[in-house]
Amino acid sequence: MHEVGLMQAALAIALDQAAAQGASKIHALELHVGQQSGVMPAALAFAFGVVSAGTAAAGAELRLTSIPVRCYCSLCQREFQPADWIYECPDCHGLSTDIRQGQTLELASLEVS
Ligand SMILES: [Zn+2]
Repeated sequence: MHEVGLMQAALAIALDQAAAQGASKIHALELHVGQQSGVMPAALAFAFGVVSAGTAAAGAELRLTSIPVRCYCSLCQREFQPADWIYECPDCHGLSTDIRQGQTLELASLEVS
């Protein structure tokens, strides 16, 4: 389950940011989950419970926001949101391999005190 590793990495960033702000407790974390990141939200929530135990983020609320995939068509010089798993440009019907958004897991915001 690679969600544990991803969650560990996201939590490490969150704990660093909280420490940098002089906070001792993380109340909520918002993560942006790319639709093509391969991350299962339920697995991520479970992983969070495991990796946050005993840290400043224990018991924090985990908010997950799904981020749609966006591709770039170099021919039309525009970004588009593919309708399917096939990244076909709606204008020229070329296939894009340039994915600009939706492949990563990112820490979006934190609530600390
Ligand atoms: Zn195109």
